[in-house]
Amino acid sequence: MTGNITFTMIKPDAIEANNAGPILAMINKAGFRIVAMKYMKLSKDQAGEFYAVHKERPFYGELTEYMSSGPIIAAVLEKENAVADYRKLIGATDPSKAEEGTIRRLFAKSIAANAVHGSDSDENAEIESSFFFSRLERF
Ligand code: UDP
Ligand code: MG
Repeated sequence: MTGNITFTMIKPDAIEANNAGPILAMINKAGFRIVAMKYMKLSKDQAGEFYAVHKERPFYGELTEYMSSGPIIAAVLEKENAVADYRKLIGATDPSKAEEGTIRRLFAKSIAANAVHGSDSDENAEIESSFFFSRLERF
């Protein structure tokens, strides 16, 4: 399994703007298969646990506040070379630096409210997927 999955969240700004549909369509069109998916709201503590690697960063408080401000869609995606290909599809963290046609370039509001999350390694894809989904919820 390792190496062919990535984990994504459609973040509160994209849900609020009714962009979940178009984003999921782009994900499917790019060849990703949905392995697991749920619509839910994180508490601030849960967002803090998910983003624990960023605990010491200046934006941590704002990020966890934002990620718990409204519902998200969490999903596990499968494709060959999933992590790298998904990072390419979403574009740079800062939407003003994201390539034309990427999800963040099209839908992000700001560097914090940047429409989607994408795992940065195979190891983190597995850790993040199991933070949200049990084995019984992955098909
Ligand atoms: N973030 C932020 N300010 C920054 C950098 C990051 O608010 O200066 C937020 C943004 O929502 C980003 C998340 O923190 O998606 C995680 O940061 P990371 O560097 O891991 O970016 P990503 O992997 O999401 O591109
Ligand atoms: Mg990251």
